[in-house]
Amino acid sequence: MQHVKIPKVIIIGTGPGGLALYHALIKNKDKKEFDVKIFERDSSPRGYHIALNCAGTRSLLNCVPFSINSNLHKAMPNPLPDVEFHGVSLFDNKGSLLLNPPSKQYKDFNELVKFPNEYSLIVTYRDRLRDVLLESVPVHWGKKCIRYEETKDVVWVMFDDGSQKFCDILVGADGINSPVRKQRLPELQIFDFGITNVVANVAVPKHLMDRFIKLQGNSLLQSSLGLHGDSSTLIFRLIPIEQEPGYENKSNSNELHYRVTLNYSYPTKLDDVESDKIKVDDNDSASVIEHVKQMIRNFGSGCEFDDIILELWDLVPKSAPNYLEKFQFKTYNPTLRRPYQDINHLFNLGQVVE
Ligand SMILES: Cc1cc2nc3c(=O)[nH]c(=O)nc-3n(C[C@H](O)[C@H](O)[C@H](O)COP(=O)(O)OP(=O)(O)OC[C@H]3O[C@@H](n4cnc5c(N)ncnc54)[C@H](O)[C@@H]3O)c2cc1C
Repeated sequence: MQHVKIPKVIIIGTGPGGLALYHALIKNKDKKEFDVKIFERDSSPRGYHIALNCAGTRSLLNCVPFSINSNLHKAMPNPLPDVEFHGVSLFDNKGSLLLNPPSKQYKDFNELVKFPNEYSLIVTYRDRLRDVLLESVPVHWGKKCIRYEETKDVVWVMFDDGSQKFCDILVGADGINSPVRKQRLPELQIFDFGITNVVANVAVPKHLMDRFIKLQGNSLLQSSLGLHGDSSTLIFRLIPIEQEPGYENKSNSNELHYRVTLNYSYPTKLDDVESDKIKVDDNDSASVIEHVKQMIRNFGSGCEFDDIILELWDLVPKSAPNYLEKFQFKTYNPTLRRPYQDINHLFNLGQVVE
C-alpha cells in the first residue's frame, strides 16, 4: 500500500482567523488530513464586543466542530426578545435617526445564518469567543515567530526564543503587523486611513442605560456621525452582568449593570486643533479619556446624546484596575489612541488607494 504523507501545517496566531482555520482543518480531516500545530506569542488582551453578521456567523459555524458550536452561546448569548434589537442605528450629530435598516430578529445564532439579505447581527463578547475557540486547542504559547526559511522540501519557522520548527505549509494568521506576511509579500503595505480610534469597555449602570435607550432606542450597535468626520459608536448587550451565569457579586452596588463597548473615532489631523489644549500621553489612559471628552465637547452639538456619551466616558477606568478581581471584564485594555489601518490590497495592482 502506498504511504500517504500527511502535510504538516503551522499556524501563527490565535486570533479569530488562526483558531477558525485550526478548527476547520481538524473538523474536515476525514476529507483531507493535516498535522496542524498552532503557535501564539502571548495571550493577547483583546476583549471588546464585535458584531457578527449573517456571513461572519455562518463562516464561523462552518469552521467549528459541534463541541465548540454547543459552547458558542457563552460568547453569543441568545437575544432577549423585545428587550434587545440586534441591528444597527445611525444618527446625525444632533441625535436624529438617519438609518435603521430593517433587521429580522432571531432566536439564536443558528437561526441568524438563515437571513443572508438582512442587516441582522449578533453582538458577541470577543474575549469569551476566543476562550470558547481555544477550548481543546493545544496552543504552543509564548512562541513569537520572527521569520521563516524555505528549503526545497520544507519551511523552517524561527521563534524569538531561538527554537525552530518545520512544516510543509506555513499560515501567517498573525494580524496586521504579521512578520510572516511582511517577509512573504513585502510589497503589501499597511494603509493608514488617517483615522484614530479610542475604544473602551465599560460596565454601565441601569439608570444611565435606560436613559440612553429611551432617547436612542434598543439597537445594539449605534453610531452617531459628527460633522467633522468624528463618530461615537456603542456596541452593547442588555443582559445584566449580575444575571450572567456564574456571576459573583464584585461590587457594593445593588444596581444592575450592562456591558458596553464605547468607540470614538476622528480624523487624526483633528489632534492638532488649536482649541484642544490637553496634553495627550498614550501611556496614560486618563489623559486619552480627557482628550476624547474634549473632542466631543469641541466637535459635538451639545445634544443629550453627547451628554450621555460624556457620562459614559467618565465611567471608563483611567488606569489598570488594581482591584482586577472586582473588574467586570475579563481583561483590562488600556485606553489608547490607535490608528485605523488595513493592508493595502490594491498596492499590487499599482493602484495605491489614497
Ligand atoms: C476594537 C475593535 C473592534 C473590532 N470589531 C470588529 C467587528 O465588529 N467585526 C469584525 O469583523 N472585525 C472587527 N474588528 C477587526 C477584527 O479585530 C480583526 O478583523 C480580527 O481580529 C482579525 O483576526 P485575525 O485572527 O486575522 O488577527 P488578530 O485578531 O490580530 O490575531 C492575531 C494573533 O496573532 C498573534 N501574533 C501576532 N504576531 C505574532 C507573532 N509574531 N508570533 C506569534 N503570534 C503572533 C497575536 O498575539 C494575535 O493573537 C475589530 C477590531 C478592533 C480593534
